[in-house]
Amino acid sequence: MTHSRRSFLRNSSLAASTMLLPAGAWWQAPGGRTAGGRPRMTFRFRPYTLQLKHVFTVAVNSRTTTPVVLTEIEYDGLVGYGEASMPPYLGESHETATAFLSKVDLARFANPFELETILDAIDALAPGNPAAKASVDIALHDLVGKLLKQPWYNIWGYDPAKAPVTTFTIGIDTPDVVKQKTREAAEFKMLKIKLGRDTDKLMVEAIRSVTSVPMSGDANQGWTDRQQALDMIGWLKERGFLYVEQPLAKERVDDLAWITERSPLPIIGDEGVQRLKDVHKAQGVYTGINIKLMKSTGMREAQKMLQLARALDMKVMLGCMTETSCGISAASHLSPMVDWADLDGALLISNDIFDGAKVIDGKVTLSNRPGIGVVKTETKG
Ligand code: MG
Repeated sequence: MTHSRRSFLRNSSLAASTMLLPAGAWWQAPGGRTAGGRPRMTFRFRPYTLQLKHVFTVAVNSRTTTPVVLTEIEYDGLVGYGEASMPPYLGESHETATAFLSKVDLARFANPFELETILDAIDALAPGNPAAKASVDIALHDLVGKLLKQPWYNIWGYDPAKAPVTTFTIGIDTPDVVKQKTREAAEFKMLKIKLGRDTDKLMVEAIRSVTSVPMSGDANQGWTDRQQALDMIGWLKERGFLYVEQPLAKERVDDLAWITERSPLPIIGDEGVQRLKDVHKAQGVYTGINIKLMKSTGMREAQKMLQLARALDMKVMLGCMTETSCGISAASHLSPMVDWADLDGALLISNDIFDGAKVIDGKVTLSNRPGIGVVKTETKG
């Protein structure tokens, strides 16, 4: 791709629009090699749309697709893969990610191993854009792991055998539908139930009538009264629930702390805990945090969040959005160190173009390939 093409994208009023990126087309920054023959990082990305197998309903919305952006960093004959997954209610989109990622210039960095320097520079390009930032972070980690010829769990020193079971998520639906979905999820050792509406008890009773596996609940800020939320949590504990995510709106810090203090189950902050700076503020408000690469800006900050939460004696959950096996595999390298994993995102889509970490017998099973451990299976792309 020529410099003039890139300048055009940068300067055009349409630069922030995917109008310039037809389906399947890549945007690519300059890279290749210097005049002296030294390799440089070449960054490219393209928008992609995940097709969900089922309509997915949580407390705040329903949808059948998820926009993602797939990124690649090529360096000295190796390619690192990354992904940004952007559920619409979080505010990022193909347009915002295109606008952000078209500012990324990795060719100016001499050394891909300088993760701190490079990722600090990416973070400083613009505020927000956590998923777009994560897509660069993941591709860079994949590249660096491939250069080191090691999977990230080895670089971090984690034992892949300690990876936990993953929950499989059952979205909000009618009793008959959730019963059917529960039967279809028989291989999973734990289920995560989306809650937050006035039909919660009906749904839980329906699911409980067809399975005895442990469950977790996620209200997605959907409950409004703190005493009713606390009563509900007690009711869920009696039905084999192990923890509950985000019972109230994230802004209601005092009410959340009130619930956490009295709750018979751990309370996990998800919407209320985005990045590293939020972790210490979560102490006392929640029992633990839900780390997601698409919130944390990627693997590097996610690992720092994990370490800080541990130092603060907090529980750690590892979650995801609907993502291809690229994003899920990247997250899976942290899974040996967490209390609970919710890494079912790639199982909810029908057009995954990567092979990587898998769920085998309900357990997160890491790939031993170098980097994040994925290969592209492009045919569905
Ligand atoms: Mg959640």
